[in-house]
Amino acid sequence: MMPQRKHVVIIGGGITGLTAAFYLHKEAKEKNLPITYTLIEASDRLGGKIKTIHRDGFVIERGPDSYLGRKQSLTKLIEEAGLAGQLVSNETGQAYVMSGGKLHPIPEGAVMGVPTKVGPFIKTKLFSKAGKARAAMDLVLPRRDGADQDISVGHFFRRRLGDQVVENLIEPLLSGIYAGDIDRLSLQSTFPQFQDVERKSRSLILGMKQNIPKPERPGTYGKKKQGQFLTLSSGLESLVERLEELLEEKSIWKNKKVSGIHREDTGRYRVELEDGTNTHGDSVILASPYSVAKQLLPETVRVEEFHSTPSTSVATIAMAFPASALKNDINGTGFVISRQEPTTITACTWTHRKWPHTTPGGKVLLRCYVGRANNQDIVFESDETILKAVMNDLNKIMDITTEPEFYYVSRWIQSMPQYEVNHKQRWQKLQDNLSAYYPGVYAAGASYEGVGLPDCAASAQKAVNHIIESMR
Ligand code: FAD
Repeated sequence: MMPQRKHVVIIGGGITGLTAAFYLHKEAKEKNLPITYTLIEASDRLGGKIKTIHRDGFVIERGPDSYLGRKQSLTKLIEEAGLAGQLVSNETGQAYVMSGGKLHPIPEGAVMGVPTKVGPFIKTKLFSKAGKARAAMDLVLPRRDGADQDISVGHFFRRRLGDQVVENLIEPLLSGIYAGDIDRLSLQSTFPQFQDVERKSRSLILGMKQNIPKPERPGTYGKKKQGQFLTLSSGLESLVERLEELLEEKSIWKNKKVSGIHREDTGRYRVELEDGTNTHGDSVILASPYSVAKQLLPETVRVEEFHSTPSTSVATIAMAFPASALKNDINGTGFVISRQEPTTITACTWTHRKWPHTTPGGKVLLRCYVGRANNQDIVFESDETILKAVMNDLNKIMDITTEPEFYYVSRWIQSMPQYEVNHKQRWQKLQDNLSAYYPGVYAAGASYEGVGLPDCAASAQKAVNHIIESMR
């Protein structure tokens, strides 16, 4: 029997909503399923946080600049969209961490800050002798009681490796991804692999050593040793443009803000728009951040304690210089900064080195981050104030005094969702509420099961699979 015709409303046209629309479109076409969809986006463009600028031969990302290649959902989407030929992996090179006013090479063998090689760890000046001795206690410390329970990332690593390794290496590396307070971030929802290592091997150092991947093989995309991140040579926004081309024009509504979702007696959903009009769907994919989604849902469905800490606001500043501006061009791909340092910038990517395709010859492209979980004021300052503070730091760290030829400040207000301890249980409660009170409505995207682009794409695909399954 032919399944009943189904219309799906997707709210939000970032990578999550676009992925959902792409797979609904593809499945309907390939399997001849009676599914239609409408993708509703509040702004005048698709892509959400993905934004690329092309200027004078530079490819400048204002939001995400790449993704972790081993999480395959995004690569699969890129391949299916016909853009595999544009995939490039990063140049590998030394990365640094700034601590005690100096840049220190990240010790070789440190996996997210956990040492797996003795020599580089003993040699590094990043930790004192006492700090190193404390980290070595990981080799003898027992598993923690309740090793299956969630704990904050900070508490977990402090117990195993001590404060110094956490403050000088792990915190700067991890907060670069979540811009969060590691003493509140959930281990289970951000880095569950470390919890598994402790459970299986007790010692992180010994357990991680066993898990180290084999020596790198020549890359699939590119001939040289492959970095672990991928991006598109024409910028990530070219994926957004390509997906938009592949979707039906009439199914994409821009400049339409959703203001509510109401279940009708028929079991269908009335999706209310801010302009006073309505549309209907049999299923809805909520692909906007939870802060928006919760305003659209009735109280029975919301989980009040979910993301009770607002997402962190950050800004990026991309700066183009002539190559001569770098008097002290350190051979590497960038640095992160310990939160104990008195700097405004939290991290800096030497984009021209990590991603050479982004920068024309004779030029340098640097991208710095500002804004931390406990201090976001700088994000709301003027472009000029941010530039001045960033240049002041760069002058001290890298001896750069020349003003950039041009720069772009991109503010991302409440953009980094904070997965606090027990996030998983709250997420489960939200899913249970949706299936009990709003069946056929699915939440997907950065607020739930990972903030990375591949996580967002995977969550969209999961929602689409549920919808297609429900038609069988
Ligand atoms: P969004 O991109 O936020 O899209 C949501 C969309 O919903 C928006 O277009 C919005 O306008 C729309 N919307 C909101 N409200 C409504 C409404 N009421 N009605 C209709 N539409 C609505 N990840 C990586 O993997 N690699 C990186 O290098 C990386 N770097 C990052 C750098 C920065 C500065 C930031 C902020 C994030 C970075 N991330 C990175 C994370 C990643 O970019 C995001 O998690 C991801 O883009 C989120 O996609 P999304 O579709 O879930 O949400």
